[in-house]
Amino acid sequence: MNLILMGLPGAGKGTQADKINNKYNIPHISTGDMFRLAIKEGTELGKRAKEFMDQGELVPDEVTVGIVKERLSKDDCKNGFLLDGFPRTIAQAEALQQLLSELGLSLDHVIHVDVPEEKLVERLTGRRICPTCGTAYHVLFNPPKVEGICDKDGSHLVQRDDDTAETVKKRLSVNIEQTQPLLDFYESEGYLVKVNGDQEIDKVFQDIQGFLEK
Ligand SMILES: [Zn+2]
Repeated sequence: MNLILMGLPGAGKGTQADKINNKYNIPHISTGDMFRLAIKEGTELGKRAKEFMDQGELVPDEVTVGIVKERLSKDDCKNGFLLDGFPRTIAQAEALQQLLSELGLSLDHVIHVDVPEEKLVERLTGRRICPTCGTAYHVLFNPPKVEGICDKDGSHLVQRDDDTAETVKKRLSVNIEQTQPLLDFYESEGYLVKVNGDQEIDKVFQDIQGFLEK
């Protein structure tokens, strides 16, 4: 079961990744984790990646793809893997096809957890934080007992700058611009599975299972 998971910020990708990982016992491989592991293990590619990261530069594709290859060669990927955050570009997607064929593997599905943009804005702008104790609330999904007031200490809740509608919309549009070509690519290659992410968490997972076990 060789999978890629895609979805915009707020789509609930991380939650579904955990569920897939628990149910099918395949590792959830995020780009960040992959880099951290390569750096920790001190591999040649890990060292090169670290040099770029330390200078605040983007890690070039040849290094990233090499690190992906090292990771996918590990024993825990024998039954499959769930890639998250890679590939990000068509060039990386093509490099991934190449490296999978070098490893004698192939991709099974690209799961797209799809949530309409306006729903994502609703989810991402609903977060409220208590400035006193740091407790996080959500106006829709985890509201305080009294609107705008911390349950624990009565402080007035605040919205972080990152969570304002303007910032959220900007972040989403950058993401959509990056993601859409990849979705089109995987659709034309016949890998794309679109799952409605605008439902209860368990229902989303049921739909994913439905596809995977078909
Ligand atoms: Zn508080």
